[in-house]
Amino acid sequence: MSEKTAVLRLGDSHLPVVDRARIYCCGITPYDVTHLGHAATFVWVDVLTRVLGSIGVSSQLCRNVTDVDDVLFAAAERSGSAFDAFASVQQFRFDQDMSALAVREPQFAPRARRNVGQVIRLASALLRTGTAYLRDGTVYFRGAAVAERAGLDRDEAGKLAAEYGARLDNPAQDDPLDVAVWQRSRPGEPGWPSPWGTGRPGWHAECAAMSLSVLGLAVDVLSGGDDLRFPHHAYQVAMAEAVSGVRPFARTRFGVGVVRLNGAKMAKSTGNLVLVSDVLENYAPAALRLCLIDRPWSAGWDYSAGELEAATGRLERLFRAAGRRGGSAAAAQAASEAVSDALCAGLNVSAALDLAEEAGGAAARGLIATLGLGE
Ligand SMILES: [Zn+2]
Repeated sequence: MSEKTAVLRLGDSHLPVVDRARIYCCGITPYDVTHLGHAATFVWVDVLTRVLGSIGVSSQLCRNVTDVDDVLFAAAERSGSAFDAFASVQQFRFDQDMSALAVREPQFAPRARRNVGQVIRLASALLRTGTAYLRDGTVYFRGAAVAERAGLDRDEAGKLAAEYGARLDNPAQDDPLDVAVWQRSRPGEPGWPSPWGTGRPGWHAECAAMSLSVLGLAVDVLSGGDDLRFPHHAYQVAMAEAVSGVRPFARTRFGVGVVRLNGAKMAKSTGNLVLVSDVLENYAPAALRLCLIDRPWSAGWDYSAGELEAATGRLERLFRAAGRRGGSAAAAQAASEAVSDALCAGLNVSAALDLAEEAGGAAARGLIATLGLGE
């Protein structure tokens, strides 16, 4: 019997994986079109699963859809649609963009609105452990220790939470850093029946509940945009650990660096963004894919058209190298192994590309396949 054991290095973590890797990726809130910041996260996670596949490890990727959320409700109302119908249309557009970029579909794509029951069970379990409390139809999770574990002082934590819509002056909470696992729906908002009245899930609780119900009590990799580290991932992890008793919830994190435009984070909320569909009118999808991954995965970077021109040139050189003979069988084997080693050592795509360009032949063809650039 052959035993597949592989070690992938991600940041400071050496992650030995035997046969299967459970990866949770924080997915989109389907309320608008896809920009390059989203694309970078999902292309990188796709590359992670492909590199794992190249060393014999199969991924179980769960990428959720946050279709119960304030910004989605507001966008649906502006468009005069029901929130679920509106989300489905946006989701379809997102899937088209991902398909154009050769991002493979995840094995699991749970939607928040189909997992409300799981959030209710999570809230009940947190209440029983004493890590949550009930106030006027809302179940709050105690958050002071979450900020501490993230290495943030209370002011920093509060500032970051406020950026994601937390109300720090809510008198119903014992502590400003507590967050809603379950919250009472405001008039006109979608709501679901619960033991505490009509309400809806909180954002961090949705991901905690979906990851627990789809992938089990812990995951190998918790992934998403690096800007989700706090509060979102920190609270997701804390809630999951509080009910499961299994620590750490995530063996390692894969936080993809943010994409900036004109020095500021790309975001719909500020209108500071470049859309995938617009880029693909002028550039090959593989060039955009390569542009997003030919750099360190955890570092933020500034987008410019020059980056895409450079990626187009890099892609052409790689395909030309793939057409060369590539030396003796032993040399080709050594080159392919060096390329694979570079990918496993922290997903160093840029180093792998340099090696493949120089060696040419099978090493370059293998890298094109592993990075999904020939699809
Ligand atoms: Zn999430």
